[in-house]
Amino acid sequence: MSVQSGESRHRVVVIGSGFGGLFGTQALKNADVDVTLIGRTTHHLFQPLLYQVATGILSVGDIAPATRMILRKQKNARVLLGDVETIDLENKTVTSQLLERRTVTPFDSLIVAAGAGQSYFGNDHFAEFAPGMKTIDDALELRGRILGAFEQAELSDDPDERARLLTFVVVGAGPTGVELAGQIAELSRRTLREAFRHIDSTEARVVLLDGAPDVLPVYGGKLSRKTRQTLEGLGVQIQLNAMVTGVDADGLTVKEKDGTERRIESQCKVWSAGVAASPLGKQLAEQSGAGIDRAGRVEVLPDLSLPGYPNVFVIGDMMSLDKLPGLAQVAMQGGKYAAKQITASVEEGQDPAQRAPFRYFDKGSMATISRFSAVAKVGKLEITGFLGWIAWLFVHLLYLVGFSSKVSTLLSWAQAFFSTGRNQMAATEQQVFGRLAIQRLRTEEDAAEAREAVARREAG
Ligand SMILES: Cc1cc2nc3c(=O)[nH]c(=O)nc-3n(C[C@H](O)[C@H](O)[C@H](O)COP(=O)(O)OP(=O)(O)OC[C@H]3O[C@@H](n4cnc5c(N)ncnc54)[C@H](O)[C@@H]3O)c2cc1C
Repeated sequence: MSVQSGESRHRVVVIGSGFGGLFGTQALKNADVDVTLIGRTTHHLFQPLLYQVATGILSVGDIAPATRMILRKQKNARVLLGDVETIDLENKTVTSQLLERRTVTPFDSLIVAAGAGQSYFGNDHFAEFAPGMKTIDDALELRGRILGAFEQAELSDDPDERARLLTFVVVGAGPTGVELAGQIAELSRRTLREAFRHIDSTEARVVLLDGAPDVLPVYGGKLSRKTRQTLEGLGVQIQLNAMVTGVDADGLTVKEKDGTERRIESQCKVWSAGVAASPLGKQLAEQSGAGIDRAGRVEVLPDLSLPGYPNVFVIGDMMSLDKLPGLAQVAMQGGKYAAKQITASVEEGQDPAQRAPFRYFDKGSMATISRFSAVAKVGKLEITGFLGWIAWLFVHLLYLVGFSSKVSTLLSWAQAFFSTGRNQMAATEQQVFGRLAIQRLRTEEDAAEAREAVARREAG
């Protein structure tokens, strides 16, 4: 175990290199503090474009620049790779693990921005056959699964098997599900058209399922209607009021509103239906007495801090405050706000009781449906179609981190949108099977540990 004590200045520890953690760290650039950012990945991930990695438009590097490189000129910040396992609020330490190495990092102020994972609403076993879309690994695995299904279909002479292989089901009709379903449809209708000899890729069936009565239910009205029409124009089958009750290797079972159940045969399923905040939230709630909502988010005070711990901030997808949505802007603004409070207390001796509450500035939200078509909502303004797509393009380029990411993304988009080509159509065996192999190893390790514990108990 090593103890990273840092310098003698006020020590700020930031957990997570996502939108909240990175923007919080950068906002402390000129503060008289030493910042340690601890992340479980070496990169900052632009999650809103993950689906484009999964469908062969963008490369990993376009949306996941190395955190260390982004912060290399910020002299008061250092980056530690590690999975944070424990936060000790009383002793003011964070313990992280990297392979066999355990590191304890003391803090004076803490920003917790560990985000959220996929939620299967108590059916975690669905994950084996319907992976989510939260990480680079998820996106690369999905790319392999999508392309692999077409390859297997090309080899099959059995019409039923071919139909199963060419049926792609996206569960969850929120922005990610809509974007993914639209891109799988475009991939099959445009990019892969005429690339196979035995199958017709344009006949692939893309199903978008949701238990809710509409697509993009947070938008509703005109935007949901427009999204539905555009997706149906692309050939996506939209099935609403449909709850998934079972998922296996060959398909899924769906329960209709009237209680009847039916089966969809499909090899490639994707889950984009729910989120659950990082389990670190539970630790923080238990230690501070803060409440926790159904998605595992910590109920923070109006200054984003924990009750009784004014120097511990929980932000982004991990926090519950005023029903704010899980959006990148909420996390970025939360990170900047927390950094400002820390700076004010260190440099001006500001009393936490005097802090102005966090105010979220809603810059709107958007989802792209296909090339040249998106929906966007900014306040009361609703934009659809090509204009919405231009707004989407501009905003995403603006917030991509790093000049080279912006340039390479723009080039990849030019190719994907103006020709039929996509540059990132490779998938390796490891990308497809790596997650399952690691899971199996972990299960075996856990079982071996449990057996050893029983043996020790019996012996002692
Ligand atoms: C597929 C997808 C599409 C999306 N599209 C949009 C969109 O179009 N517009 C929009 O506004 N929002 C979108 N979002 C939501 C947006 O990405 C999140 O709201 C935002 O990323 C939240 O920021 P965060 O900092 O709280 O968490 P994240 O950005 O998720 O960052 C969390 C960080 O913590 C790290 N971490 C987690 N646990 C640990 C641990 N134990 N130890 C160390 N590090 C840890 C993670 O590796 C990650 O770096 C999308 C999300 C997804 C998944």
